[in-house]
Amino acid sequence: MTAAAKALTADVVVCGGGVAGTMAAVAAARQGASVLLVERYGFLGGNATAGAVAQFNSWQTTAGRRVVAGLADEVVERLQAYGGARPHETFMMSTGHQMDRIEYSPELLKLVLDDMVAEAGVQPLLHANLLDVDAEGRRIAALRVLTKGGVLTLRPQVLVDASGDIDALHRAGARFLELDDGEALQPATMVFRFGPIDFARFDALSADELAALSRRGHEQGELARAALHLSRDPYSNDGWFNISRLGIDATDPLALGAAEIEGRRQAWRAARFLQQAVPGCSDGRLRAFATQVGVRETRRVEGDHVLTAEELLRPEPFTDAIAAGAYPIDIHPAAGGGLHYVPLGDDHAYRIPYRSLIPTAFDNALAVGRGISATHQALAAIRVMTISMAVGQAAGTAAAMAAKHEGAVRSVDVNALRDALSSRGALLA
Ligand SMILES: Cc1cc2nc3c(=O)[nH]c(=O)nc-3n(C[C@H](O)[C@H](O)[C@H](O)COP(=O)(O)OP(=O)(O)OC[C@H]3O[C@@H](n4cnc5c(N)ncnc54)[C@H](O)[C@@H]3O)c2cc1C
Repeated sequence: MTAAAKALTADVVVCGGGVAGTMAAVAAARQGASVLLVERYGFLGGNATAGAVAQFNSWQTTAGRRVVAGLADEVVERLQAYGGARPHETFMMSTGHQMDRIEYSPELLKLVLDDMVAEAGVQPLLHANLLDVDAEGRRIAALRVLTKGGVLTLRPQVLVDASGDIDALHRAGARFLELDDGEALQPATMVFRFGPIDFARFDALSADELAALSRRGHEQGELARAALHLSRDPYSNDGWFNISRLGIDATDPLALGAAEIEGRRQAWRAARFLQQAVPGCSDGRLRAFATQVGVRETRRVEGDHVLTAEELLRPEPFTDAIAAGAYPIDIHPAAGGGLHYVPLGDDHAYRIPYRSLIPTAFDNALAVGRGISATHQALAAIRVMTISMAVGQAAGTAAAMAAKHEGAVRSVDVNALRDALSSRGALLA
């Protein structure tokens, strides 16, 4: 691409380079498609890097059966090769439930995603902000993005909207799902880095001691969330703390900016509490804020199928399942310090149908990641990064197949898609 180029074509344009979008781009390119990956920041990863979430949760059921692999596994292997991931482990959550995770370095994840995109032959378009989208009837015809070189027009056969907020489909005029009465968007969180921590002392705290400290911090107004939840940095004695809480609609520009400011204030108060009150943290300092507040939930597109919590809990054996998951329903309320948590049974896994990726309004588009067609309750389970990566891999594979048929995503042979995913190590049940 030259700076003078004003229009680019590709089989697949992925809008948004979070973990879902990056996996979609890599999967599509490995299927032989030409792929442009549009990202507003100068690096990939979204919540996983810019939001410094720093742990991939729920690779397996509580009984230990693996439900996510494929490209997500490759991400972890590459992180480990850089020294940027801790071993897989199970741990006890503040709710008293068991969970598994892999903690990683958000900085080194940027390198891993760069490598995967480069090796797959994806054309990354960083520092590119979506401006608007042209739809011609039920077809996405073009996206315009604002770059350092001016406005570029991108013409895809297939659009994969991986922007988290599903900005591209929103601008194209897609339909979106509403919250039900009594529901609210999950809050955003400003994750912050704090250290050094004496982990020998911190990890020696019992669950009851941690809960009592968290409650005290919350009652004193120092912790917005009654938890001391952190991801340990793999190569230092620092931790990334996920304990602020910002009840906003992150698609509202004024609210988003205000949340960044309030998030930093909450992080500062929480860091002060850690230093003053939490064993193992007295030498620690606030070292860094995440690049931006992490956003759990905004828009959910209306798709050919709306995935529900009941379907996850049964679980529904979808014949068009393209990914699986075992993360429980985990709702952070917009206000208050608690958590609404619905654990799953011991060996319980659920499936995600291809139809939940297909927006009802368009023929050549897919949605991935935290904006797919699911109820608020179902999204509270399937939003995590392991599942987002698995869904991303599926969407990219499907997009490459659809690109051979003028982008018609409903013409994809679902059995062939499932076979292609299985042959590349993805788990579908
Ligand atoms: C505080 C917090 C804690 C969490 N904890 C965990 C956890 O412990 N474990 C876990 O597995 N998951 C966790 N999650 C969930 C998980 O991080 C997200 O659901 C997941 O990362 C979503 O990935 P995504 O790719 O769909 O979206 P995002 O990560 O939001 O990525 C969207 C990408 O699109 C880009 N973009 C957005 N709009 C535009 C635009 N207009 N133009 C160009 N680019 C654009 C963004 O910069 C970003 O790179 C947490 C989330 C949050 C916020």
